[in-house]
Amino acid sequence: MPFDVVLRSGFKNYVRSALIDSLGEMIELAGGWPQSVVPGARVLLKVNMLSAKSPERAITTHPEVVAAMAVLLKAEGCSVSVGDSPGGAVKGVERYWKNCGFEAVADELGIELVNFEKAGSFEVSLDDRTYNIAKPVIDADVLINMCKFKTHGLCRLTNAVKNAFGAVPGLGKAIHHCNAIKPADFAKIIVDIYTLVSFDLHVMDAILAMDGKGPSTDGTPRWDGILGVARDGVCLDVVMTGLAGLDPRKLRTNRVALERGLGLDPEEIVISGIEDCVLEDFRIPGESFYNLLPSFLGVIARYFFKKPPEATDKCTGCGICAGGCPVDAVTIINGKAVMNRKKCIMCLCCHELCPEHAVKIRIPLSRN
Ligand code: SF4
Ligand code: SF4
Repeated sequence: MPFDVVLRSGFKNYVRSALIDSLGEMIELAGGWPQSVVPGARVLLKVNMLSAKSPERAITTHPEVVAAMAVLLKAEGCSVSVGDSPGGAVKGVERYWKNCGFEAVADELGIELVNFEKAGSFEVSLDDRTYNIAKPVIDADVLINMCKFKTHGLCRLTNAVKNAFGAVPGLGKAIHHCNAIKPADFAKIIVDIYTLVSFDLHVMDAILAMDGKGPSTDGTPRWDGILGVARDGVCLDVVMTGLAGLDPRKLRTNRVALERGLGLDPEEIVISGIEDCVLEDFRIPGESFYNLLPSFLGVIARYFFKKPPEATDKCTGCGICAGGCPVDAVTIINGKAVMNRKKCIMCLCCHELCPEHAVKIRIPLSRN
């Protein structure tokens, strides 16, 4: 009987040969390759490529984990591509591929890097809700979620389910942020998208994880040495949330997913390897105070207490934040970004996108 979640611990580095051996064994324990993994299948590895930073920053899925999966899939006769849509990709995704280490791995292994922004999208619906999903995600014969385990100021943790959000290309992500002011509502959108993209397999990179003020440059990288594999992303998230010291049902995405009948109740999940896994003193942001307010008050509070992010002296005037702002609230004046209070919808994309770590958030998103 396969395990619902397979964990391995003790990784002290990202040595490809060890990752290949471990992942091969873990996939077997999780029930083997999905049926769609056959010779000639086109596999898309959906990575977390939030920011154009080096893998040592722990912001993105490590390229060696991706390389190990690619080697295993090629041995099965599949062709492999890698993709994600970070918010700043509207200004070009190439620097993400290069800085995150995916370009080097792609060149070495003959992997295609796909540009979600240029590939177009399909409109797909769940009940009465419609989303644009990047064509490569829908078109792939096999979709594998290569997620990173990190904290997140709005969602508290970003993990397997949250990684589906990057399947929405371009500024659509910022518009979803804008439409779901309360993180509790945003979690419903995340779970919708997770449901629609329908991953075949999940691999979680918690070898170099991140706690504190994630998910980007304000977070703290930490070596936890853990790798996870599961057929079901909700089960994987539930287990990892618990390991990080948070009641799994207190994570909004877990709760919404479980209420919709996705995944398994925490008590029912059969896990391999958890006894050796420790995430000691994992610092998770508290619940956003917006969740405490009724929706209409959340909107009002956001308006009255609105303090747009601010560019600090580190700003180089590169304009990436201006290009990524969904409502054109950023102007470069005298070589520095200036955020327009009236226009700003507090989506915080500029903070996530800034390559210089120059955007300061001026209101607390959470209670710690
Ligand atoms: S705030 Fe950051 S992204 Fe925006 S212009 Fe300055 S350096 Fe570039
Ligand atoms: S200026 Fe405001 S609306 Fe624009 S990206 Fe930043 S937070 Fe979002």
